[in-house]
Order: sequence, then structure tokens, then C-alpha cells
Amino acid sequence: NKTANQMLIIFGASGDLTARKLIPAIYNLYKGKHLPENFVVLGASRSSITDGEFRKKVVHESEFLKSSLGKEDQDFVSTFADKLFYEDLGDDYDTDYDRLSKRIGDLNNKYHTENNYIFYLSTPPSLYEAIAKNLSDKGLNSEANGWKRILIEKPFGYSLQTAQDLNKGLQKYFKEKQIYRIDHYLGKETVQNLLVTRFANSIFEPLWNRNYIHHVEITNAETVGVEKRGGYYDKSGALRDMFQSHLLQIVSLIVMEPPINSNAEEIRNEKVKALKSLRIMTDEKTLFDHTIKGQYVASEIDGEKVKGYREEEGVDANSKTETFAAVKFFVDNWRWSDVPFYVRTAKRMPTKVTEVVIHFKTPHHQVFKEKDIANKDNKLIIRIQPDEGILIKFGVKVPGQGFKVERANLDFYYSSLVDTNIMQAYERLLLDAMQGDATLYARADEVEAAWAFVDPILNYWENGEDVKTYGYSAGAWGPKNSDGLIEGEYTWRNPGPH
Ligand code: NAP
Repeated sequence: NKTANQMLIIFGASGDLTARKLIPAIYNLYKGKHLPENFVVLGASRSSITDGEFRKKVVHESEFLKSSLGKEDQDFVSTFADKLFYEDLGDDYDTDYDRLSKRIGDLNNKYHTENNYIFYLSTPPSLYEAIAKNLSDKGLNSEANGWKRILIEKPFGYSLQTAQDLNKGLQKYFKEKQIYRIDHYLGKETVQNLLVTRFANSIFEPLWNRNYIHHVEITNAETVGVEKRGGYYDKSGALRDMFQSHLLQIVSLIVMEPPINSNAEEIRNEKVKALKSLRIMTDEKTLFDHTIKGQYVASEIDGEKVKGYREEEGVDANSKTETFAAVKFFVDNWRWSDVPFYVRTAKRMPTKVTEVVIHFKTPHHQVFKEKDIANKDNKLIIRIQPDEGILIKFGVKVPGQGFKVERANLDFYYSSLVDTNIMQAYERLLLDAMQGDATLYARADEVEAAWAFVDPILNYWENGEDVKTYGYSAGAWGPKNSDGLIEGEYTWRNPGPH
């Protein structure tokens, strides 16, 4: 695909995300020759620094960039740094944009970026609408000569209402097709591969329904606690931070019907339909039975003492914010009727892993003796991180007398594609936005459909009468009673360390 000449303007350029993810991603795109000939980055925030200081911080002395630099990179680094500029926004993001728009104009004329601009909002979310308004006041949303795109970081809203307000706010100044809502999970190779696995093969799709699938399980586990983000996290929690965004995105890719082609709008139409078919839980009994919230408590991991959540910096000592969330739900459509989905996400778990497990039903009629069969069900595991891959678990005969059945693995790991240089999520997403491909960005109705499902759970957790926040030891697989969420003889698949 061709990438037009353009300028990337980053708001919040003095912040963590810019240094940690954005600049390294742009550098890798540059090194991989994916950037157009005429391309500049203009960083903007309140910090008063010069172009040179900005380059020093995010390039020359950046610990984040250093890790991806080899000897051969030295030549690239300085030519890359020359493409970066910085503009001080003064004391406030919502006042004086004269200087900023003049600087954009000057750089555009000098470096021939053809009035094509991406505005990347990497600031606190409270500023998103004000920035959009100010850009519009200066005519920087106009596509009369050159395109304009606005890229919004997560979190997108705090509830259904705030997400709707933000959508309305942004759409006052930018058209929906100019708005790119980023969810970096969608930039991950394995998440995209969900679409390919399902729709480029004929062996899975015929089985991908209620007739053959017993249940679907998704786990997102992190070993770390809240680290330095206690203040932010305490107002958010696992359901908002991970579930509403990343995990429901994955759910939509598993649940969706085949799109008629791979165009952004066709794929997103199907994802929205999928999200709208999740059964919204409204009565307290279902909410009580099907959702579990937990919080890690102090413990020891590998002989080291680990703080409990409430002792973390920035966290309220009586906080009820969840660091563990598990939800059981159903999907009300023809394909998935009665198939339970179990999704959990948590911090301070025994291992770092994100995976989807499709559990197939056991054969209708058992030919072999029950006691001879270990782990009866067939599983398809889509490992999103780490060691990305697709694993199939199936039964084989143990050599020897009788019909003892053992599980065997048919595993594919991305790392075995030796020549593949997997693009990092932010590289892929930035390049897509630069080329105007919104397939991997969330549309307004998609974000709202996800919030519509999550909102009643949040309300119940915040205001319900019999809601409990269960403790779990840091380093354990969540509260004990979460084991019982999955019914029958099944339990969560708790993968070992990687
Ligand atoms: P950050 O380190 O706090 O940076 C944000 C920047 O915004 C600051 O450098 C600050 O620069 C500017 N800012 C303007 N008004 C501010 C205010 N009232 N309070 C605080 N800062 C203000 O945040 P970040 O980690 O880079 O995150 C940026 C956005 O990306 C957020 O929306 C965040 O949720 C999202 N995000 C971050 C990550 C990550 O890994 N860091 C991951 C996913 C999403 P000046 O003071 O110079 O203006």
C-alpha cells in the first residue's frame, strides 16, 4: 500500500506513551522503509522544551529506543531524529492554538507534507474533546486540501454515557471516517490471525458453532501488580481497563459472522453485530451468579514479599476496585445460543498469558472406556501472548495393548516462521492509520456496544447490595470461588509459565 506524504502531530508528547511506544514504533517503520519520503513528527505538550531536547529525550537518550538499536542503526538514528520537532503548548491545552497551527503550516511548507495530518491524542482523556475543538477552530479538521485524521488513545469513555458523550463531542468536529480509536490489542498479529484462522480455512468454520463447541474460555493474566499506575487504576479497575476494550474486541472476533469481504466497514459491521448479540445482564441474581470480582492481597512470590492491592501507592486503603474480574455470559444469536463464554482478566497471577480456549464437545457416543481417556475434550487454543501461536489438543492412542487415550499437541508457534519479522502492535496500527485503513480501529457504535454490555456489571459492582470483593493471594489464579464459575466437570485452563 502506498503511504502519502504526511505529518504526525502528537499531543502529550512529553509523556510516557510517546517515549515508550510511539517513537520506537515510528523509528522501526522508518528503518523498515515504511514511511513516506516526506514525513515529520511534531510533538506538542505543555512542557517547555526545544526540538533538540525533545530529540534527546525520545531518541538519543531514550532507554526505550536503545533496546531496539543495533550497531548498524547509528546512521539511521540521526537522520530519524532530524524528522522530529516539538511545540510548547503553553499552560493549557484548550486555549491558544495560533502558535501550534502556524508551526504546523511552516513545517508543512518546508517539508512538503501535503496538508495530510494525523493528530495523535496521547493526553489524559479529559482533553480529547477540547483538543478536537481547538483543531477545528483553526480549520485543521478540513480536508479541502489534504486529509486529516484524529487518533484517540484508550480509555475511550468511563461508562456507556461518557463514551456516547465523547463520540458526540468528537463528531462535532471530525467526521466518523476521520476518527481512529486505538485498541492496541487489535494490532497484535495473533488477534488478526483469529480472522484468518476462521475465515481462510475450511476445517474450523463448520465446527464453529453451538453444535460442536461446548464453551469458550478467555484468560488474560498479568504477573505484575498496578506498579506506578495505582492512582489511575483505582478509578478504573480490571473491567474497564481490560475487559471493556481488549477482551471484548477478542470476543467480537470469535463471535462474529463471516464478513462479505475484508473491507474495514464490512468487518466492523459484523463485529458490531456480534457485540450487540451479547446478552446484557440486568437482574441482580444473574449478575451475582455470573460475575466475580477480586483483589490481590499481600503474599510471597518466589520467596519475595509482595504488597496487597490496597497497600499500593495511589490506591485507597478501603478500595473496592477489582484487580480480578471474571464474567460468564451468553450470546443470543443462531450460532451461539446456549454456549457459555467465560472471560477473566487479572493482575498478580502466576504467569503472564492471554489466550482463547475453544472447548469442543466430547463425542456423542463413547466407544472407549471413560476411565481410559485423559482430558476428554478437544481444545483449540489461540495464544495471543506470549509465544503467540495456535495449539490444538486432540486424543491419540497410547501405544500398546487396549485403547488408552492420551492428549497430543498439534502446536504452531509464530516464532517458528523464522524469517518473519513480526511488526509490533503500535507499528502496525500507526502504519494502517497513515494509509487510511481503519479495519483495526474501533468504530463509534462498536465502542458503545461494548460499553452497553459492561455498564450493568459496573453498576452492579458499584451499587449492588450483595456484591463482594474477594481477596486472592498475589501469585494465585484469583479468588477460590472463581473456580466454580465454569460449570460441570470443567475448570479454567491455568497454563504453566512460559
Ligand atoms: P502521561 O505520561 O501522563 O503523558 C500524558 C502527557 O499529557 C503528559 O506528558 C503531559 O504533558 C500531558 N498533559 C496535559 N495535560 C495534563 C494534565 N492535566 N495532567 C497530566 N498530564 C497532562 O500519560 P501516558 O502514559 O503517556 O498516556 C497517554 C494516553 O495514552 C492516556 O490517555 C493513556 O490512558 C493512554 N495509554 C497509555 C499507555 C502507556 O503505556 N503509557 C498505554 C495505553 C494507553 P505536559 O505536562 O508536558 O503537557
